[in-house]
Amino acid sequence: MPDVVVLGAGIVGVCVAIHLQRRGRDVLLVDRTEPGHETSFGNAGIIQREGVRPRAFPRNFKTLLRIAANRGLDSRYELSALPGYAPALAQYWWHSAPERYRKIVADYAPLIAHSVSEHAELIAAAGAGDLIDKKGWTLLFRTEERRDNAYAEADRDAQEYGVEHAKLDAAGLARAEPSLRIRAAGALHWIEPWTVRDPGALVAAYVALFTQGGGTVAVGDARTLRESGSGWTVDTSAGPASAAEAVLALGPWAGEVTRKLGYHLPLFIKRGYHREYREVPGVTLNRPVLDIETGFLLAPMRRGIRLTTGAEFAHYHAPQNHSQLDGSEAVARQLLELGDRLDDAPWMGARPCTPDMKPVVGRAPAHRSLWFAFGHAHHGLTLGAVTGRLLGELMVGETPFLNLEPFAAERFRGGKARGR
Ligand SMILES: Cc1cc2nc3c(=O)[nH]c(=O)nc-3n(C[C@H](O)[C@H](O)[C@H](O)COP(=O)(O)OP(=O)(O)OC[C@H]3O[C@@H](n4cnc5c(N)ncnc54)[C@H](O)[C@@H]3O)c2cc1C
Repeated sequence: MPDVVVLGAGIVGVCVAIHLQRRGRDVLLVDRTEPGHETSFGNAGIIQREGVRPRAFPRNFKTLLRIAANRGLDSRYELSALPGYAPALAQYWWHSAPERYRKIVADYAPLIAHSVSEHAELIAAAGAGDLIDKKGWTLLFRTEERRDNAYAEADRDAQEYGVEHAKLDAAGLARAEPSLRIRAAGALHWIEPWTVRDPGALVAAYVALFTQGGGTVAVGDARTLRESGSGWTVDTSAGPASAAEAVLALGPWAGEVTRKLGYHLPLFIKRGYHREYREVPGVTLNRPVLDIETGFLLAPMRRGIRLTTGAEFAHYHAPQNHSQLDGSEAVARQLLELGDRLDDAPWMGARPCTPDMKPVVGRAPAHRSLWFAFGHAHHGLTLGAVTGRLLGELMVGETPFLNLEPFAAERFRGGKARGR
C-alpha cells in the first residue's frame, strides 16, 4: 500500500509527487486521463518569474465599462453563467482593492521569486532542458499611456521584488523581433522567465522522473475518494487503491471533491483557448509576445506558433465560444505572419482561480491526512515546482522553505468544512 495518493497529474500534482518521493514517501499518482493532458497541456508555457502581481479584478471605471460591454478580446463572459459566478467575483473585487491587493502581492511574490530556480532543478533532473528557452518574454504596448504605466510598475517591481526587465523602444523591439509587422509604442522584456516549448511534454518528463524513482501512475476517479480505516481509498482501473494520506491537486476540478468532503471554497474558473499555426519560412518569433491591449499572447512552440486567449467566464461545460480566439487571430495576423492552423478545433482549458488570487496549499482543515494543492489560476505552470516542494516539506514535517500560512484553506469562511 502506498503512503500517499496524489489525485490529479497536472503540473502541480506531478511536482508534489516528486517532492514527496524525494522525502522517502511511496507515492501513487492518479488521474482520470493521461498525466498533463488538461490545463497543464494547453497553457502559454511561461515560467513567469516576473509575475509577482497576480491578476486582479479591474477597478478602473473605464475598464469595467469595457468589460461590461462584453465586446473586448481580453475577457468575455457568458451572461447565463454570471449568477453562479457572482459570489466569487464579488470577493475577487473586494480582494482587489489597493490596500488588500498590496498585502496579497507581498504574500505571493516570495513564491514567484523561486519559480524558475525550483523548475530549473527538476528540469535538470528530468533531462528536459531541450524543451526550455531561457530568453524571457515580451510585453508589447500599442499606446504610450499603457507603456508608461507599465514602465513605472516595472521599476517598482525591480526595486521591491528584484524583477529584472529591459525597456525597449520601437526600434529596440524591431531589433529583438524583426518579423513583427507593427510599430509598437514600446515593450518590456522580462529577462528572467524561462519558457517551455511544449508544456505537456514537460509534465510527461516530470512523470518519467517520478516513475524512474519508483513511483506509480494509475488511472482513477478522484470523485470516488473516501475515508477508509485510518486513510483514504480511491477507485482506479486496477481496483480500489488505499493510502494513509491523500493530496488533492485537481486544478479546475478540485471543487468537485472538496464539496463532497464538506468544504465550501469559493473556487471559480476562467476558461481560455489556444490555437496553433504553422510557422512561415523566414518569419521568426524569438520569444512569447503578449499584446496586452488586445489581450492575446503568441508563443513559439515545438509545433509552431501558439496563440492563447485571455479570460472567459463561463461554465466549464458550456459550449465553446470562439469569438475571442477568432478576433485575436485576426489581430495576430496583422502583428506576425502566421501560417495555416495546425488543428481543426481549438484547445480549451480553464484556469483554477480563487478570489484572493492565491493558491490553496496546505492541510485540509477538517481531515488530518488530507492535503490541498490547487487554485494556481494564471500561474500554475510557474508555481507548480514551488508548491510541490512546499507541500512535500510540510507533509513530512520539515519546515517549509517559505511561509505557507497565507495559502491555508482556513482563510476562506467555507474552508473549514461544515459539520465536522
Ligand atoms: C490559455 C491559458 C494559458 C496559460 N498560460 C500560463 C503560463 O504561461 N504560465 C503559467 O504559469 N500558467 C499558465 N496558465 C495556467 C496554468 O496552465 C494552470 O494554472 C495550471 O496548468 C494548473 O495546473 P494543475 O496541475 O493545478 O491543473 P491541471 O493541469 O488541470 O491538472 C489537474 C488534473 O486533475 C485531473 N482530474 C480532474 N478531475 C479528476 C478526477 N475526477 N479524477 C482524477 N483526475 C482528475 C485532470 O485530468 C488533470 O490532469 C494558463 C492557462 C490557460 C488556460
